[in-house]
Amino acid sequence: MTAGETTRIRLADMAAIAEAAALLDAGELVAIPTETVYGLAADATNGAAVARIYAAKGRPSFNPLIVHLPNGEAARGHARMEPLAQALAARFWPGPLTLVLPRLESSPVAALVTAGLPTVALRVPAHRAMQAVLAALGRPLAAPSANRSGRLSPTHAAHVRESLAGRVPLILDAGPTSAGLESSIVSVVDGKARLLRQGAISREQLEEVTGPLEIAEDADPVAAPGMLLNHYAPALPLRLNAASADAREFLIGFGAVAGDANLSPSGDLVEAAANLFDFLHRAQSSGRTAIAVAPIPTHGLGAAINDRLKRAAAPL
Ligand code: AMP
Ligand code: MG
Repeated sequence: MTAGETTRIRLADMAAIAEAAALLDAGELVAIPTETVYGLAADATNGAAVARIYAAKGRPSFNPLIVHLPNGEAARGHARMEPLAQALAARFWPGPLTLVLPRLESSPVAALVTAGLPTVALRVPAHRAMQAVLAALGRPLAAPSANRSGRLSPTHAAHVRESLAGRVPLILDAGPTSAGLESSIVSVVDGKARLLRQGAISREQLEEVTGPLEIAEDADPVAAPGMLLNHYAPALPLRLNAASADAREFLIGFGAVAGDANLSPSGDLVEAAANLFDFLHRAQSSGRTAIAVAPIPTHGLGAAINDRLKRAAAPL
């Protein structure tokens, strides 16, 4: 949204759902109730729209987002569904269960959604309003909780407005959310299910499907995507604040520094964030032996971009 615009709250009737889908189709954000908390949604296939989520929340880093789908069938277009994942989906979807699964190359979800990770977090929400928007848009929605970074998750439309006024054009209001708790997160990778986050579905309920469930340790790279992001640094050495590059380096440009690929010739940080992970992958497979990155401003989304680049430059 542009400066000076206000945030409107609309009852989630059919006309409001249609407006929400039109805004999302145009790359805007909409706050939408789910059965867990209110989510700040963007078209998951539009990298610039996803970048606006991080900007609106003021997130200092790109932690991966949950992708919301209309049904379990849709998950097959995004991730490898092992039998255990299928069993969990059959039992708990639609509902407050998020599955972290190996991502398919062919998934149209923007790289920024998964912060460049090889896994993707999927959920089928059980809420009339969220389902109606998914159906009207016909594309998956990336949606973290609709609050400024570090604030409490919102369970009322008024909470969203307190936190995000002026940062989201439309909030759909369907009253208080019923679970009020975030979704439980389970990863299913290589035949093994692990509990990454306790949430609205109890461990006991999950274990009826999975058998005894391992609780992932904080140090586990799948459980703590921050850790995985460190390990998932490019295999090539990466140099920051480069005004120019030598012949061995792939230069990722920004603004006036053109480089081999320019994150944003106009110096737009939303555009740069949307391109970041694709360009890191492109640099990696370019055949050069090192990566250099032009200086990126540190304000707004630049903070998260620099955070990610510093991790890539100095893996822990
Ligand atoms: P929120 O949407 O605010 O409830 O937070 C999303 C949660 O899902 C965060 O804890 C993320 O770390 C986690 N998450 C999302 N994608 C992944 C992934 N690919 N691997 C591991 N955790 C993930
Ligand atoms: Mg949150």
